[in-house]
Amino acid sequence: MKKTMPVEGKFELMALPYASDALEPVISANTLSFHHGKHLAAYVNNLNAALPGSGLEGKPLEEIVLDAQGGMLNNAGQILNHNLYFSQFRAPRAGNAPTGRLAQAIGEEFGSFEAFKEIFTKAGATLFGSGWAWLCADSDGNLKITQEPNAANPIQHGLRPLLTMDVWEHAYYLDYQNRRPDHLAALWQIIDWDVINDRYEK
Ligand code: MN
Repeated sequence: MKKTMPVEGKFELMALPYASDALEPVISANTLSFHHGKHLAAYVNNLNAALPGSGLEGKPLEEIVLDAQGGMLNNAGQILNHNLYFSQFRAPRAGNAPTGRLAQAIGEEFGSFEAFKEIFTKAGATLFGSGWAWLCADSDGNLKITQEPNAANPIQHGLRPLLTMDVWEHAYYLDYQNRRPDHLAALWQIIDWDVINDRYEK
């Protein structure tokens, strides 16, 4: 997994790899402006403020997630989670599906892509409170779906994160209010499977 390094002692707010209205109507520009521009920006600012004197200065973000405690861990975990989340989308497309080795692994583990989507969406819908649903790979490339509370990331259990859905209310409340399952079902239209495939191959 690629390491995220601080620049001159500070982590930077990731740039979105698409226009702010590119994911509409699945995720509105309004939601993105708050989710990326306010929530993620606050996690970045909080971590940067906590770094001096912590002993974790200059370390990659992924190491901070494995070594930090308390508020530093929460902010670092949320930055890593959101960087993976916002990097995995592109404009909505019909018939959107994985290809190649990842498609084969999904078929072997879950029976079919349709069955996988159903199990994954359910993992997100049934996660109590705030957190993240993940598709991950173990060191042998076997796929697993996990539910992680709050700011947790699968790297904390030695798993490689591939795909994620944010089920914190700030991810969907402006567009979907209480309808979390509808939001999760719609996200399949904007997953960039080339990105997920790259994460699986590397
Ligand atoms: Mn979020």
